Amino acid sequence: MAIQTQNPVNGKVLKTFDAHTDAQVDAMLDKSITAYNELRTWSFEARAKCMRKAAQILRDEAEILGEIVTTEMGKTLKAAIAEVKKSALGAEYYADTAQGHMANEIVETSASKSYRAYQPLGPVLAVMPWNYPIWQVVRFAAPALMAGNTGLLKHASNVPQSALYIEDIFKRAGFPDGAFQTLLIGGAKVERILRDDRVRAATLTGSEPAGASVASICGEEIKPTILELGGSDAFIVMPSADIDEAVRVGTIARTQNNGQSCIAAKRFIVHADVYDAFRDKLKASFKALKIGDPMQDGTDIGPIVNSDSRDEIEEQVQSAVKDGATVLMGAHVIEGAGYYFKPGILENISKSSNTYHEEIFGPVAALYKVSSLSDAIELANDSPFGLGSSIWTQVEAEQEQGIRDIEAGATFVNAMTSSDPKLPFGGIKRSGYGRELAAEGIRAFCNVKTVSID
Ligand code: NAP
Repeated sequence: MAIQTQNPVNGKVLKTFDAHTDAQVDAMLDKSITAYNELRTWSFEARAKCMRKAAQILRDEAEILGEIVTTEMGKTLKAAIAEVKKSALGAEYYADTAQGHMANEIVETSASKSYRAYQPLGPVLAVMPWNYPIWQVVRFAAPALMAGNTGLLKHASNVPQSALYIEDIFKRAGFPDGAFQTLLIGGAKVERILRDDRVRAATLTGSEPAGASVASICGEEIKPTILELGGSDAFIVMPSADIDEAVRVGTIARTQNNGQSCIAAKRFIVHADVYDAFRDKLKASFKALKIGDPMQDGTDIGPIVNSDSRDEIEEQVQSAVKDGATVLMGAHVIEGAGYYFKPGILENISKSSNTYHEEIFGPVAALYKVSSLSDAIELANDSPFGLGSSIWTQVEAEQEQGIRDIEAGATFVNAMTSSDPKLPFGGIKRSGYGRELAAEGIRAFCNVKTVSID
């Protein structure tokens, strides 16, 4: 895939970049090792000073960087600016907490002193997606750098300007030269880097095939990995729910980021007693969404990232319809310039349809009617994925049942699934493994060293 900025609003290629050569990548890996040998000896205070500076730059330049993000992948400018500001919060979270998360933990044993020590591993390769091009990177980079590791970013080929901007932010923030570098390479060049002894670990956020490839290579090389893959999150609505609020939040949860979010609510599983009310209100709410230029104030939904992704969403809709599903509204390509897709709602998707089992990575809600919470949870779990989940009910016993029985990396009650630096983030089943954010995120790429002194 060419490394280029192509504006999804009109398909125009705005900037093309030459990929780094193998020799350039080798020099960058050397630089990463040199930077690691310096950064690992820095105090937490020194690292935190740079991380706070990075957060400040993110905040100060949120509008400039937001415009780049919107131009490269099509989310609304408002959402892009919010993403950059959230990234600043993520950086500050680790500036504030890294030392505590990595403090030695004393364990009483027969030795005179024993403890668990958290030490960095070295250069870590991050293979990242375009959908949250700043947040995904910062949620890897902030804990990595605060732990004393160095970062090598292989960003998605369609967001090179975002990728280079982040590299520059960490440079300007005062981290050692080479502590965070952007490699301009395609997916095919990742294997060579993973097999290089200078790289100690890898994290990938993206699709299943990419994740499986990175994990199997790292398996052969005995290197740790984190995989954050796709999701088809359930959004369960029970009779006691505040239906208006569930519809308001459900609309955002399905359509934010132009429907291209791993933790989007993708399957709305609604109790029969409130199904009709929920469906009619959701339809009205989707109808009110303003589709248009993502740079304009007031736009709710911009274009899909590229023509292939847009066409794939339409194919999934058509395949579901062929297998018996009904289109309640929308759910089709909008003809004309750019990669626009009309948000829509599907009902009656048959279990035998491929679409039932797939992730729809676009603004299409799948509605299901059930007659009990047990049925709702069974349907929620009837998916290869297990990323987030959301359950709407005022009944405490139902909340507890959902928390206990839904197979997912997160369950949000009366709220949509979202990420927060203070809470671990990740999935189970084919949504991946390992956790980012919180203490888990910084310890993931640490050597948990046992120290025992007699
Ligand atoms: P993708 O095609 O897998 O791309 C993600 C990254 O992987 C890009 O940098 C891509 O590079 C690279 N890549 C692709 N194939 C590769 C391979 N064989 N070996 C090494 N690297 C490879 O994913 P996408 O379609 O852009 O992103 C959407 C997917 O990401 C959705 O399934 C979504 O749910 C998931 N996602 C998950 C999370 C989470 O936290 N769980 C967050 C966001 C997105 P190129 O661009 O050069 O191909």
